[in-house]
Amino acid sequence: MSYKFVYLFSEGNGNMRELLGGKGANLAEMTNLGMPVPQGFTVTTEACTQYYKDGQEINDDIKAQIFDHMKKMEEISGKKFGDPENPLLVSVRSGARASMPGMMDTILNLGLNDEVVEGFAKKTGNPRFAYDSYRRFIQMYSDVVMEVGKKYFEELIDEMKEKKGVTLDTELDADDLKELANQFKAEYKAKLGVDFPTDPAEQLMGAVKAVFRSWDNPRAIYYRRMNDIPSDWGTAVNVQMMVFGNMGDTSGTGVAFSRNPSTGEKGLYGEYLMNAQGEDVVAGVRTPQPISHLKETNPAVYEQFCNIVDTLEKHYRDMQDMEFTIEEGKLFMLQTRNGKRTPAAALQIACDLVDEGMRTPEEAVAMIEPRSLDALLHPTFDTKALKAATPVGSALPASPGAACGKVVFTADDATEWTTQKGEKVILVRLETSPEDIEGMNYAQGILTVRGGMTSHAAVVARGMGRCCVSGCGDIKINEEEKVFTLGGKTFHEGDYISLDGSTGNIYGEAIPTVEASISGNFDRIMKWADEFRTLNIRTNADTPRDAKQARSFGAEGIGLCRTEHMFFDSDRIKAMREMIVSDTVEQREAALAKLLPMQQGDFEALYEAMEGCPVTIRFLDPPLHEFVPTEEDDIAELAKEMGKTVADIKAIISGLHEFNPMMGHRGCRLAVTYPEIAAMQTKAVIQAALAVNARHADWNIVPEIMIPLVGEVKELAYVKSVVTKTADEVIAAAGAELTYKVGTMIEIPRAALTADEIAKEAEFFSFGTNDLTQMTFGFSRDDAGKFLGAYYDKKIYESDPFAKLDQVGVGKLVKMAAELGRATRPDIKLGICGEHGGDPSTIEFCHKVGLNYVSCSPFRVPIARLAAAQAALNNK
Ligand code: PEP
Ligand code: MG
Repeated sequence: MSYKFVYLFSEGNGNMRELLGGKGANLAEMTNLGMPVPQGFTVTTEACTQYYKDGQEINDDIKAQIFDHMKKMEEISGKKFGDPENPLLVSVRSGARASMPGMMDTILNLGLNDEVVEGFAKKTGNPRFAYDSYRRFIQMYSDVVMEVGKKYFEELIDEMKEKKGVTLDTELDADDLKELANQFKAEYKAKLGVDFPTDPAEQLMGAVKAVFRSWDNPRAIYYRRMNDIPSDWGTAVNVQMMVFGNMGDTSGTGVAFSRNPSTGEKGLYGEYLMNAQGEDVVAGVRTPQPISHLKETNPAVYEQFCNIVDTLEKHYRDMQDMEFTIEEGKLFMLQTRNGKRTPAAALQIACDLVDEGMRTPEEAVAMIEPRSLDALLHPTFDTKALKAATPVGSALPASPGAACGKVVFTADDATEWTTQKGEKVILVRLETSPEDIEGMNYAQGILTVRGGMTSHAAVVARGMGRCCVSGCGDIKINEEEKVFTLGGKTFHEGDYISLDGSTGNIYGEAIPTVEASISGNFDRIMKWADEFRTLNIRTNADTPRDAKQARSFGAEGIGLCRTEHMFFDSDRIKAMREMIVSDTVEQREAALAKLLPMQQGDFEALYEAMEGCPVTIRFLDPPLHEFVPTEEDDIAELAKEMGKTVADIKAIISGLHEFNPMMGHRGCRLAVTYPEIAAMQTKAVIQAALAVNARHADWNIVPEIMIPLVGEVKELAYVKSVVTKTADEVIAAAGAELTYKVGTMIEIPRAALTADEIAKEAEFFSFGTNDLTQMTFGFSRDDAGKFLGAYYDKKIYESDPFAKLDQVGVGKLVKMAAELGRATRPDIKLGICGEHGGDPSTIEFCHKVGLNYVSCSPFRVPIARLAAAQAALNNK
């Protein structure tokens, strides 16, 4: 027997996601639970991988297995594929392990052609329905398989409605729809130069191929990169017997959630449309009815549905997102999955499931996607400003949050305005489609004219945690002219608007926003997370404001204070420049003496903000040319101050030029050439700690002095000797006691390779993975963006190595250095302070390597707390 690439629903189960994809596994599970599921089969994710191995071809073995299973479906249904007398029609749908917008979704009614549709009309006694199904099939097949744009078909429908003087598609009769089917086929031929395929077998293979192909379209690749989904997973394909929601007024189709996906509130939530097929609900062609309405119109089906929902929720122990169809009064379940939800709803649901006894706190913590918390940490509207503002309109609150920005009308503009012009934008669209995904991600918020709570815009925005208001039918929009009107006001590209994704209100002005805070469910989940994690979480902060913010988010210390950021303020930069252009040690010391009190004040404020928690202060790091003046006025002023000519100063500045500054005179090399800089910084660190300890009897600040860019133990030994001599003198002079630590960053490959030697001097290591990545890959952290795009396209790299740690290469150095360091000094403290410190997958790696802490930017502290807990739970 050949390898099995196809499974009947009755052969699978819910644990087979990897092989059957999420949709396939859940259809199998519902089948096993005895639920009314139209039967079918799943072509596995392995078949998809094989398709790519075979040069994007479906091999004969897989083809044979597919048709063999079509035969089995014929037996189950008593119908025949392609038989006009008694036709079997199927839907073809994609289904990856993780649900993925951007991929081919659905083709319905496959198996129809001119002949079959005639027979189908006769057999059902409902020609209107038969032709409606046919024209839909041609439309979907053309759009999703052959990528002929939807809009050509929509235009033909609109023309037909106009010709017939009707407004709803349900008012078109059988002849109109037959005529439309012919027009669609003609359109297909005009666009593609070939006839629409009449052979159902050819249609089926075309559809399966299209699903496989869509795994690798640019939208899907972008989504995968955003969500850390590996490209070798592949997608499954589900082929399922059709049931029809468009058979007339006793048929319908809908989407429902077992809890509100926006708020998490318990209770059935959803919408449906009678006499319609699935895509009508999602596309927002007609406005759907709320699910509660079904209770009045069809109480028996409603009750059956509620029972199924209840069973499914208890079975999966999570909020379910379901699709169903009612065919002539009979209910069928087409899909269930753990529903996508807003970050706020995710917290609410996780807490409720614990309270309802369905989940343990460990499971609740594991249910939350750490990065989704980001959306909760972002601003909401300033309450006063919001009260003073009057909405110009309102629509569906599709995804919560507050957004304020300039209007743009295309996804490309959203991307460009944000990345190139640094603008904050709101994307306003008639409706969004999968190709808009990148622009939607860049926009602050999304406003659509069409579409319900389950429209593309709503679903995708919720997944991204992006604010979205959808279905604002009051808007008159002209996307080409880039203008819309609402509430008697006209808005052009670049005008400010604000959106409240929690109420659905739209404001024709900029409304200021305020920072978020952690409370309620958020706090509860965080406290659970803290119980389970073993990693400490610190923050990268250079200002008291950032430090306070991080502290309020739960930071347990500062892992990196980049002291150079303190030198750019207008009152300090002058002294810094004097220091740089000094000729003698005395001149330099005089300039540094001006900086000392300022720096000491900064450190005191940082210690205060961190309330006695550990603070790591990194000594001056960047190349000095970053500080020198470029403006003539500033150069002249500096010359005057230093008693030099403008030409002298210019000569000094040009002498600082380096061909490769990131590998030049920076980091500890500055302290080796100018030890007085390290001495001043040491004084500031120690005096600040003495002062703050004196003010707080219960605090015992142990400052951690961190020497950057060390590659050789003797470098560190030298700078450390300057630090300890200075520190010990200051402490002795104060007649006080103070413990302090001296450690280093591991951010040069040579430091990682010789970490056993370096640990003889260093009391702690902090992995500076920004530089370590740069130097290990040998490409610039500032310029790599220029070519990395090509690397993603060619699948050489799947993600940005500056955002997500390259565990294979850079990670090997981290692991090795951690082991070498501990071998020399068993109690050495190990942490990470590169950007990777806030990335969940890197945090799991750090947990496994046994680091003591991760340090990240303030807004990523809660994400890191949760990710650290999940790492601990996953690796128990
Ligand atoms: C690093 O290199 O990872 C680091 C934290 O230092 P910086 O980004 O300041 O170079
Ligand atoms: Mg660095």
